[in-house]
Amino acid sequence: MTTTAPTESDDQPETAAEIARHQLDRAAQYLDIDPGTIERLKHVKSVHQVAIPVQRDNGETEIYTGYRAQHDSARGPFKGGLRYHPDVTAEECTGLSMWMTWKCAVMDIPFGGGKGGVVVNPKELSDTEKERLTRRLAEELRDVVGPMRDIAAPDMGTNAQTMAWFMDAYSMQEGESHPGVVTGKPPVIGGSYGREEAPGRSVAVIAREALDYYDYDISDATVAIQGFGSVGANAARLLDEFGANVVALADVNGAIRDPDGFDTHDVISHEEQPGMVSGYDAPENLPNDELFELDVDVVIPAALGNVLTADNADDVQADLIVEGANGPTTTRADEIFTERDIPVVPDILANAGGVTVSYFEWLQDINRRSWTYEEVNEELENEMLSAWNDVRQSFDSHDEATWREAAYIVGLKRVAEAHNVRGLWP
Ligand code: NAD
Repeated sequence: MTTTAPTESDDQPETAAEIARHQLDRAAQYLDIDPGTIERLKHVKSVHQVAIPVQRDNGETEIYTGYRAQHDSARGPFKGGLRYHPDVTAEECTGLSMWMTWKCAVMDIPFGGGKGGVVVNPKELSDTEKERLTRRLAEELRDVVGPMRDIAAPDMGTNAQTMAWFMDAYSMQEGESHPGVVTGKPPVIGGSYGREEAPGRSVAVIAREALDYYDYDISDATVAIQGFGSVGANAARLLDEFGANVVALADVNGAIRDPDGFDTHDVISHEEQPGMVSGYDAPENLPNDELFELDVDVVIPAALGNVLTADNADDVQADLIVEGANGPTTTRADEIFTERDIPVVPDILANAGGVTVSYFEWLQDINRRSWTYEEVNEELENEMLSAWNDVRQSFDSHDEATWREAAYIVGLKRVAEAHNVRGLWP
């Protein structure tokens, strides 16, 4: 087969929904699944659109638009983030809800995919305005969310406080306490310990397993990480604890490099700008886009989507890519990595620690019993290893499949089986 070298012009960033449908088709080729089920999975069950009137602090009323996309619930209630961002659209929520279906299924968590958001710049709202917006949103969505229907979580522009307001408004209107309607709450009202660091922790665990699969000794392995926020910093710290050499780190302002490996705790807490790599006294500073060109064993994009493209995929020197961010690799870049034999361990496995600990939180809420930090991390490790083994077996048993396809095969098989046994009614 001849392939033409991809150019940037045919590597336009795709929407999350386009990527999700494309991945579904790729995985379906490997499985004998009723075409009707595949077609059904290309559509969301519902996208709820609501108008949210909010009184601003100056007395004026502003109307915001909110969405909640619910993709598939064959395996359990819908589950997914709620974001406050000016670029939120129904299409984006649709695609991201599909990704959540596959992520939950790969992890074998009894949830389906959901995602929602409000078209708003949260930086332009005061805390009291954000509270009124969140409470009214909870009321507008009350009939379609709930601990057994659809469970929200923090996402871009929302946080534990947002979830607390949402949970409080929902519970007040229902007349009883429902902590399980959201996850990512503060622990004092039923949030789980370990939730914040969970996506970074899962990235580190999966990177460790992938290194082992390719016969690297983790104590000799070199790692570069783009992004030093929740996912990137936690992944860096844990990989450092596992013995890996974190030799390069980048945040929005630049990258730092130390061929001997950083003390990541020191970088995280350094005094000048805690939590930032900029300002850290490193042996070498470089522009952040050069991080992907470093000759390391593993590179972890953990900042933004669509950062590995046809433009830079040929310059990547790493032996292995582990996706910490959601959707960091474009389809064209993915093809280039396949041609270059660089394995890409996908987001729906690697960063799924977040939704996994959300599931633990929901279990704690409905059982009214909280787990310790140690219990959470031990269970997370078990779940990640179990999912890794499922995906690894899928990878080993499908000759032509990439790691991404292997993960989608695992997820699709589970969702399709659920549809099969539940049947189509009426
Ligand atoms: P965050 O806001 O905490 O951190 C983002 C980091 O990326 C910051 O350090 C920022 O400086 C850096 N960054 C931004 N632009 C950059 C650039 N051009 N070059 C280098 N660094 C840059 O965000 P987060 O919660 O860590 O999320 C990161 C990614 O992981 C996102 O794609 C998110 O969707 C995904 N994710 C997050 C979670 C979660 O629960 N936090 C779970 C799963 C996936």
